[in-house]
Amino acid sequence: MIPFIDLTRQHAALKAELLAVTARVLDSSQFVLGGEGRALEQELAAVCGVPWAIGVASGTDALSLTLTALGIGAGDEVITPAFSFVASATTIMMTGATPVFVDIDPATYTLDVEATERAITPRTRAIMPVHLYGQPAPMNRVLELARTHRLAVIEDAAQAVGAAWAEQPVGAWGDAAGLSFYPTKNLGACGDGGMVVTRRQDVAERIAKLRHHGDSGRYEHVELGYCSRLDELQAAFLRVKLRRLADWTTARRRIAGLYEKGLGGVGLELPSEAPQARHVYHLFTVRHPQRDALVKLLADDGIGTAVYYPRSVPDQPMFRGDAERRWPEAWRASREVLSLPCFAELTDDEVERVIAGVRRACERL
Ligand SMILES: *Cc1c(COP(=O)(O)O)cnc(C)c1O
Repeated sequence: MIPFIDLTRQHAALKAELLAVTARVLDSSQFVLGGEGRALEQELAAVCGVPWAIGVASGTDALSLTLTALGIGAGDEVITPAFSFVASATTIMMTGATPVFVDIDPATYTLDVEATERAITPRTRAIMPVHLYGQPAPMNRVLELARTHRLAVIEDAAQAVGAAWAEQPVGAWGDAAGLSFYPTKNLGACGDGGMVVTRRQDVAERIAKLRHHGDSGRYEHVELGYCSRLDELQAAFLRVKLRRLADWTTARRRIAGLYEKGLGGVGLELPSEAPQARHVYHLFTVRHPQRDALVKLLADDGIGTAVYYPRSVPDQPMFRGDAERRWPEAWRASREVLSLPCFAELTDDEVERVIAGVRRACERL
């Protein structure tokens, strides 16, 4: 059986170091807003090429607090792609604003920039592109649109830490970006966590208050805040893992290259890395018109796969949109996509077995 993902391999390899930092944090007994978190913030700000980073409790909070820090709320519209994890849209709703869905570019699964332009209204305040599967959205065009219409840009970089567009890291393009440390993400905690990275000092300062009860530093609660901090233990774990992130990304990109070589001409549509993009392959996602039959054949052959996502966001029961008619590429993607195993610890032998299994399954369809 080849697992779709296996985090135990990563943690077995890092166990001694993770236990050592656990002891360090226990000895200090500072568990919230301490030195580990501050150090991780600096290290991730550097990775993203921005001056500020603020640790928060999840990727979801990173996005919702950023929207709030930008003054977005009731009566405002924020444009976001119809094909993503549900949190891209729900974080907009948490502020009281309305998500306005746009369709995706079927080749890259990132937002369609022309559709984004058509969706702008007098109420639009921001665009939230999603770097889905680890592939950056076309940020030069998104920024151009944002400048023309005076809109903020919040990057949903939950799946894309380390990715770049035109050699500039994701996170350094927009007003701010949200990262997620959900365990299966490219940089995953041993629990939940998230971070806002930003080039704007005003946004960084406001989020530092929002995450801690609106506290300006001396039990002076200057506005309604939240309780959303990244704890020290998670920060310490993440610092151990961050030292491997570049190597892990190299491994993911290498596996993607092997799949691309091995899976040509079998009737699968393979991921396409946009010419200016550096894709970090959080997921290696292919598509096939008979996706469900393919998933079953692979499962019978001992190959784990996963579908991200079986419904477009507006087709979630909470929205009851009509994606097939209004966001047809998002709808089609939800029926055709399938992700293959792609994580740093996957062996070459396993990659070869996946390739052979997928080729066999495609021939039978
Ligand atoms: C994981 C994810 C989030 C939310 O992050 P959490 O840490 O799970 O709150 C948001 N957007 C996208 C695209 C994600 O993949």
